[in-house]
Amino acid sequence: MVDPEKFDIDYFYKNPDEVWNLFVNLFLPAFNVKPNPAHYALAELEKMGKLCAVITQNVDMLHQAAGSRNVVELHGALREAVCTQCRARYPLSEAVKRRVSGAPRCPKCGGVLKPDVVFFGEPLPRDAVREAFMLAEMADVFMAVGTSLAVYPANQLPVVAKKRGAKLVIINADETFYDFYADYIVRGRVEEVLPRLVDRLKSMLF
Ligand SMILES: [Zn+2]
Repeated sequence: MVDPEKFDIDYFYKNPDEVWNLFVNLFLPAFNVKPNPAHYALAELEKMGKLCAVITQNVDMLHQAAGSRNVVELHGALREAVCTQCRARYPLSEAVKRRVSGAPRCPKCGGVLKPDVVFFGEPLPRDAVREAFMLAEMADVFMAVGTSLAVYPANQLPVVAKKRGAKLVIINADETFYDFYADYIVRGRVEEVLPRLVDRLKSMLF
């Protein structure tokens, strides 16, 4: 286990080389991970016109890899690195390639680059949060999938959706903090439940 304090934004600014070394060891293997049946099922629901968007706290971009188009990333993604001085952006893979060890530097200004994911102590990207809450307000059905709904502010999205009249469906292997609030609860692994949901929907529609 990695000490979460090492992914605190203040710690990063003080020890960028150490955090980059940790980051590369921990997160780069994630580039080789493939989407699971739950990712594919959500992409399929979108293609069928039944799913408006996916809002995620994951940074692995597996929803896009599975074919989802409208993905709101609340914690950023392993896509880019951003310069902490001049805010220039670079593909993360390029930044990783350029570094020998420690933190890669900005070719323009020499500033330390930071992976464009949300560190502890950092605010969430404002546009993503705004879009997520807008989607929740407009939803007819809000599915909270594969989450314990423990983390603020994402766990307020189902609350907002429901207050605006949406049906709330919670699909998770374990109990969640908002089970009491749900219209429907499916207790099961999302990798199993979501593909079955898609099959069922197809048999009803076609
Ligand atoms: Zn720069």
